[in-house]
Amino acid sequence: MNFLPIFLDLRGKSCLVVGGGETAARKSAMLANAGATVHVAHEGELASAFADIKEQDRIVHKRAAFGAALLDGMELVIGAAEDDVIDQQVFEAARARQLPVNVVDKPALCSFVLPAILDRSPMIVAIGTGGASPVLARLLRARLETLIPASYGRLAYLAESFREQVKAKFSHGPMRRIFWEKVLQGPVAELVFSGKEDDAAKLLQRTLDTEKDEAPQGEVYLVGAGPGNPDLLTFRALRLMQQADVVVHDNLVSDPILEMCRRDAERIYVGKKRANHAVPQEDINMMLVRLAKEGKRVLRLKGGDPFIFGRGGEEIETLVDHGVAFQVVPGITAAAGVASYAGIPLTHRDYAQSVTFVTGHLKDDTPNLDWDAMAKPNQTIVIYMGLQGLPVLSQELVRHGLSPQTPAAIVQQGTTPHQRVVIGTLGTLPELATEAQLKPPTLIIVGKVVSLHHKLKWFVSEDDRLAQS
Ligand code: SAH
Repeated sequence: MNFLPIFLDLRGKSCLVVGGGETAARKSAMLANAGATVHVAHEGELASAFADIKEQDRIVHKRAAFGAALLDGMELVIGAAEDDVIDQQVFEAARARQLPVNVVDKPALCSFVLPAILDRSPMIVAIGTGGASPVLARLLRARLETLIPASYGRLAYLAESFREQVKAKFSHGPMRRIFWEKVLQGPVAELVFSGKEDDAAKLLQRTLDTEKDEAPQGEVYLVGAGPGNPDLLTFRALRLMQQADVVVHDNLVSDPILEMCRRDAERIYVGKKRANHAVPQEDINMMLVRLAKEGKRVLRLKGGDPFIFGRGGEEIETLVDHGVAFQVVPGITAAAGVASYAGIPLTHRDYAQSVTFVTGHLKDDTPNLDWDAMAKPNQTIVIYMGLQGLPVLSQELVRHGLSPQTPAAIVQQGTTPHQRVVIGTLGTLPELATEAQLKPPTLIIVGKVVSLHHKLKWFVSEDDRLAQS
């Protein structure tokens, strides 16, 4: 983050705008609208646009060329003279006094940048690109305009008027938050958006009166986060991610996805990586029970789908045994996500009429899979957790009747910027994988459909791009 967004209180403060043209008028209007008294330094007449500024009483025309003395008593400076020499003077004089300064369209002469603003006062959304592309910021603002109802600000005022009452009613912080989330997303909000503010206030009062001040009932959300690319989350996953109080996650959940969880939610990491051993499954199960019993909304976030090689079943069995409420959100399992992003259809009328998902995690190195069934023709086999066991896996499949020429692929970190696809045959894949120094997670796909990759590949990851350049 190159810039820290902050919201300045300029009410009753003085700001200097240097210049008297259209741009200076636009900036002056913005500052006046934020409650500032705007000193406009310009020797000649002001452009006609100044006459359109609503808060005329906050505009003070200083008929003078720019000089450092004009900075006395100012909180903030905007250079809009559109003159290289003056712009430079304004910047230097302001910085000498450590005043925040912005010279329009000259990033090198700015100590702050102005965002694109979506005004739903008292709620304000500011969008910045650090000066990289103001147009992009404006496009995003236009999208938000359509998403955030014009009356959103009124909802904030209504909430403000009930704030103390709500605070007094609920002794538990989480309960208060749950109450507000319900109100701000439910019928009260709808009434405000449709202009019925009195009805909204009455309904809010009634809701508050009937609410009980009890410790909230905790719940566990067992959520599949998909194979790593945040675009592949479901809407329901995202909604629950944004309301959970605590997040329990392991290494398959990527950072961009974790960042989409509620900012102030507590995060508990139970995966491997560090010290190279994971929290035992029984401990995770009991941790979920304990957190939920404390009244928390617990997000158990898992890679892919929670019910596919995810031990999700075991976790909710424990919840059932302890009478803890839960819900399950399916996710895109690695097989589906990775195959799509590698351009390998898992079934195809010409090559494979069925697909089998197996785990390649071999207990004590002893293969305990149904090799005969897997070695049957016209099917696709997808192997999860198979990187380590790959030599044994390919050997056994060949020993049980599959040709060593059978096309096979191994895909690293599918669907993400680090996706890498290595294509070979059952015979060659173990060696190719070692050469490529793949990093987990990886998924192995075996079957004739793999040969379609060359024709159907469509996704180019960042790692692919790096490898090509
Ligand atoms: N519940 C998960 C699977 C957990 S087992 C799901 O439904 O996808 C962990 C294994 O999933 C990894 O060892 C790897 O084989 C596979 N996997 C998960 N995400 C992957 C990805 N982005 N790319 C390749 N393999 C992945």
